[in-house]
Amino acid sequence: MTSSDGIQIPSRLPLLLTHEGVLLPGSTVRFRVDSPRNMQLVSQRLLRGTSLKSTIIGVIPNTRDPEQDTDDLPTLHKVGTAGIAVQVVGSNWPKPHYTLLITGLCRFSVSSLLKERPFVLAEVEQLDKLNQYTIPATEGVTAEDGELGELSQKFHQAAVQLLGMLDMSVPVVAKFRRLLDSLPRETLPDVVASMIRTSKEEKLQVLDALILEERFKKALPMLTRQIEGLKLLQKTRKRSPENEKRVLSVRKGGVIPGRTFNLDEEDEDEDGDDAAALERKVHGANMPEAALKVCIKELKRLKKMPQSMPEYSLTRNYLDLMVELPWSKSTKDCLDIGAARSLLDNDHYAMEKLKRRVVEYLAVRQLKTTLKGPILCFVGPPGVGKTSVGRSIARTLGREFHRISLGGVCDQSDIRGHRRTYVGSMPGRIINGLKTVGVNNPVFLLDEVDKLGKSLQGDPAAALLEVLDPEQNHSFTDHYLNVAFDLSQVLFIATANTTATIPPALLDRMEVLQVQGYTQEEKVEIAHRHLIPNQLEQHGLTPQQLLIPQDTTQDIISRYTREAGVRSLERKVGAICRAVAVKVAEGHKVSQALALSPGEQTQQRDKAAPPEMPIVIDHLALKDILGPPLFEMEVSERLTLPGVALGLAWTPLGGEILFVEASRMEGEGQLTLTGQLGDIMKESAHLAISWLRSNAKTYQLTNLVGGQDPLEGTDIHLHFPAGAVTKDGPSAGVTIVTCLASLFSGRLVRSDVAMTGEITLRGLVLPVGGIKDKVLAAHRAGVKRVILPQRNEKDLEELPANVKADLDFVTARNLDDVLNAAFDGGFPGTTSAHTHPQLSSKL
Ligand code: ADP
Repeated sequence: MTSSDGIQIPSRLPLLLTHEGVLLPGSTVRFRVDSPRNMQLVSQRLLRGTSLKSTIIGVIPNTRDPEQDTDDLPTLHKVGTAGIAVQVVGSNWPKPHYTLLITGLCRFSVSSLLKERPFVLAEVEQLDKLNQYTIPATEGVTAEDGELGELSQKFHQAAVQLLGMLDMSVPVVAKFRRLLDSLPRETLPDVVASMIRTSKEEKLQVLDALILEERFKKALPMLTRQIEGLKLLQKTRKRSPENEKRVLSVRKGGVIPGRTFNLDEEDEDEDGDDAAALERKVHGANMPEAALKVCIKELKRLKKMPQSMPEYSLTRNYLDLMVELPWSKSTKDCLDIGAARSLLDNDHYAMEKLKRRVVEYLAVRQLKTTLKGPILCFVGPPGVGKTSVGRSIARTLGREFHRISLGGVCDQSDIRGHRRTYVGSMPGRIINGLKTVGVNNPVFLLDEVDKLGKSLQGDPAAALLEVLDPEQNHSFTDHYLNVAFDLSQVLFIATANTTATIPPALLDRMEVLQVQGYTQEEKVEIAHRHLIPNQLEQHGLTPQQLLIPQDTTQDIISRYTREAGVRSLERKVGAICRAVAVKVAEGHKVSQALALSPGEQTQQRDKAAPPEMPIVIDHLALKDILGPPLFEMEVSERLTLPGVALGLAWTPLGGEILFVEASRMEGEGQLTLTGQLGDIMKESAHLAISWLRSNAKTYQLTNLVGGQDPLEGTDIHLHFPAGAVTKDGPSAGVTIVTCLASLFSGRLVRSDVAMTGEITLRGLVLPVGGIKDKVLAAHRAGVKRVILPQRNEKDLEELPANVKADLDFVTARNLDDVLNAAFDGGFPGTTSAHTHPQLSSKL
């Protein structure tokens, strides 16, 4: 092949040595240029030249490892492609470089090097004819040309087959189709090899194939491989329609590993096509006027930007988000109150009050769709089903559900997004959530609103307030989006462990629904109705394989968990399922082995007989799987010395029992307090001691040596050993008094009594909060009698009947009542020693 006829390229060409792609005749490739020689070539030649000829350069693949590249010229690859630089873009970021868009014309070889600096100039020999692009397709290679004709025929057919598998509405594909029809066959290997996904080495092989026949032979397998890859892809696509969009848009990188289509990678129209597609999407996104305006402005900017600019991808990401947001996409509510009621009942055992309120709420929504009512906030200990109820609400409404966890969020941009001024800026969690669910009326569960933090980066609660305020949230402006998004269709539900730490302004917006902890019996029911069936299913087990009897469940609840909710119960059941799954799988293996070798049957059976189904988890199995019990009934064991009393505390995680211990030793009347204490707890301790000292005579309390003042010559140490429980101070008052009274009198506190109540200096007992949770905790711990302030009597009504039946409640007006009820046979010196007002359990 010589250049004897047709158009000639200049015989002297400046050479661009590049590590990037391989330029093949007939294709257009973008090259990034930053080596000194190449930079010189651009600035001194391309940018200075005035004639068309001066835009023609030789592109030679640099085969030297870019890491090892030095300033001296590598041995040049023997073949290069002459091309026209159709675009030159310069940039200073991140370091000075040019981006060249070059269209390949024909192959050449280097005859001699003329100079190496400032850029390489060489005497070249043209290897391909250049007029092939100007003669019509029919006059090119024809069938008569023997093997070559056959090859080209085959190649053309494969290319047509490939096109048949692609979507013609994609611009790149349409362009490929045009090219295929109008180009002479002999140019096809070059053009196709540069369009389909091929490695640099493969392109080099095509470049080096100077003989046309060889070139067809090299490129054909690449083309067939592409077709096979696409077939595979379409198979997967059939399985998941989700993939379809991705396949058709044939973007950079593959959907399946290995070979996928890559038509647009090096296409001169990429910017144009891309921008056009984006523009179509912008118009199709159904966004409000203001947002559309912004998008169009950004699109305009994008079109003018070179892709290599960092700003490009920023803008691009922004536009991608804008078109993806569900501006006017929503699901249709399908609310049937009857169905909602039964769905909530089916999903959740107990929690009647909460379910009733939720149904009411839904009913009102149905009547008045534009409800601007308060936001429901479920408050209660972990694992009581708050999230789960939220999820059910979404299901009854037929809406999407999304959980936004706010625990530890202390930066307002978490909610409201970062301004789009720096790289890495993002929208906030609300907008992100909307993008994830893809509709504008989901149920958003704002989890742990009580754990919002505050920091220098602004107050997230204030941002959240804006999100929740029906007066403002129809035009919520995320800093990243910088245009308003209408949140009024979103149904917000919040959850918290306690209302105490919810910012007041936020709390004001919400209707608080308390979700209490469960009793032992309720937990057993929840376990058997919900948790066990769910866990079985999750572990691929059936009730025929695993049976957990009721009293085992009870054992798990009382000896392996101590919680208000059912979260660790669920985990323990999961652990049992895992253990059984292993047994079942082993059983399978054994029975397969049995089937294989009858001769060894008896032997095998001795080794590991498949377990009998169902596997029943009894107490022994439980101990095997979960280990020794974590919580023994320690109450009665602990109360065997004077100076210990059992209190009840409330924490955001539910009720807790709390041991208060005291000891005394010779000293100067000092009081030492240890354990996890707040200031209020210390005050309570001082109050208790003062009251006991002033009443020491009445109650016959003495110091170490029998003196009247219990503190004389005595140091006292008070300890609250129940570990990491945040104690609520005042309600420990009665417990401290009882504990010290026991210490000073040397009498034992009844081992089955727990108590709560605040005290005054004059010995009155004041009401405290969290009675239901506290009583449940006492019940869990096996306590028989609970002493509580008389003014808390009304709180007992909320308790489940079985708990009331199990416990004996003593309501106390003053410390006299408390001491009387706490010690067997009453406390000496109390006025009501035998007539304390004991309530029967039939409250
Ligand atoms: P929370 O959000 O209150 O911390 P979750 O909703 O995550 O608790 O509940 C933990 C688990 O316990 C879930 O699997 C949930 O389905 C289950 N659960 C909690 N309460 C009930 C109930 N009353 N009935 C059935 N399952 C429940």
